[in-house]
Amino acid sequence: MNDLEIVIGLEVHTQVKTESKIFCACSTKFESPPNTNICPVCCGYPGVLPVFNEKVLSLALKVSCALNCNINKDIYFERKSYFYPDLPKNYQISQYKMPLGEKGYLEISTGRKIIINRVHMEEDAGKLIHKDNYSLVDFNRTGTPLLEIVSDPDIHSPQEAYDYLNSMKLLLIYIGVSDCDMEKGSLRCDANVSLRKKGAAKLGIRVELKNMNTFNGVRAALEYEVKRQSKVINKGENVVQETRLWDFQKLKTVVMRTKSDAHDYRYFPEPDLLNFCVSDELIESVKKSVGELPLEKKRRFMKNYDILEKEINVLISYPWLSKFFEEIILFYPKAKDVCNWLIGPFLEQVNNLDNGFSAVKISAENFSKIVKFFSEGKLNNLGAKKVLALGLTTNEDIDSIIEREKLVQVSDHEELLKFVEEVISSNPKAVQEYLEGKQKSIMFLVGQVMKNTRGKANPKVAKDILERRIQI
Ligand SMILES: [Zn+2]
Repeated sequence: MNDLEIVIGLEVHTQVKTESKIFCACSTKFESPPNTNICPVCCGYPGVLPVFNEKVLSLALKVSCALNCNINKDIYFERKSYFYPDLPKNYQISQYKMPLGEKGYLEISTGRKIIINRVHMEEDAGKLIHKDNYSLVDFNRTGTPLLEIVSDPDIHSPQEAYDYLNSMKLLLIYIGVSDCDMEKGSLRCDANVSLRKKGAAKLGIRVELKNMNTFNGVRAALEYEVKRQSKVINKGENVVQETRLWDFQKLKTVVMRTKSDAHDYRYFPEPDLLNFCVSDELIESVKKSVGELPLEKKRRFMKNYDILEKEINVLISYPWLSKFFEEIILFYPKAKDVCNWLIGPFLEQVNNLDNGFSAVKISAENFSKIVKFFSEGKLNNLGAKKVLALGLTTNEDIDSIIEREKLVQVSDHEELLKFVEEVISSNPKAVQEYLEGKQKSIMFLVGQVMKNTRGKANPKVAKDILERRIQI
């Protein structure tokens, strides 16, 4: 294996977020009952004419710009002909010779810039649902706008492929082009992989991989395939050019078809759509709308805020979280404290909400108060979490929650001393154990003080007083 180099190329299909399909006015809604979002155009009835949805162009341009591609301004579509039960027209309208974007790159977290070969627009096919001895077809997805983003064979390990996919997904979400939900099929990925002797100019024989439904699946399939191919090569045999399917239950790839079954798609220009030219004004305005990309944001955060890279990675991984973070910072500038509360208790509570972040109502200002009160000792950990839980989906004023729930932390010595004395006299065994050197016992006693004060005691102060009282 050591003298072999891994060469991987990835083909990502992503559904772009539009209300209607690419060549007709049917809805793209995912949840609709089967075969309700269909019309003669997307079902390929004879005599119908497709009409191009301009929104797809601006979103596809946005992706091409964010991926640093050269833009081909002349747009024309071609027909890719093949027969399959989920494709009522028996051809797919796609871009072939002249993709919208070409020769760009995607920078991944390691700093490597993976070359993007092409970005093109096309329509999706329908969906087959296989039952025991029959299959059903749902044409709702037929004609949904897709972007195909193809990398050069420029990726050199399964892990790098995984990083590329994560970076691509985050970028597409950031620029608002796709929700990239793999479960809904709005992001799909095929891979090709080959091995060659290190330093060799010619690529090895490549195998295409399909049917990988998660990024982990892509990485696992590539790892399996690299091992399989290196065994073949080390035996002195040749890898067979073929398409293989990832079996995620058996964790292996199996042959789907060999090169001899390869399609000839008979591409030719789509006669029902006019050629047109994208204006420079549109390209310029789309470029301006791209905004800050995830990696740029990460670098800015690393420069401006004193928080760890792994914490920044969490903030960046959700566009709304990084935005919320910066809104809170305007009210309370201690980035570290804000970050701890966001990626800790806040995310934990948000994940427990049915609708996730969309159910969150708390304002940045109110959230900043919780962090501030905790940092200043007005609230203890338990109290702050409780205030957060109460204000998270209501945005009730933090001061009134604290007052109503009587959550102000008790740090006052006099007041805590009473509780400490009580705990010491009612737990002689734990006190004795602490005196004999069992450090853990002090935490038990602190716990008792917390319990008796209904969680309001400042645990640090309580521990100090306990230690001093017991030593006397
Ligand atoms: Zn339609």
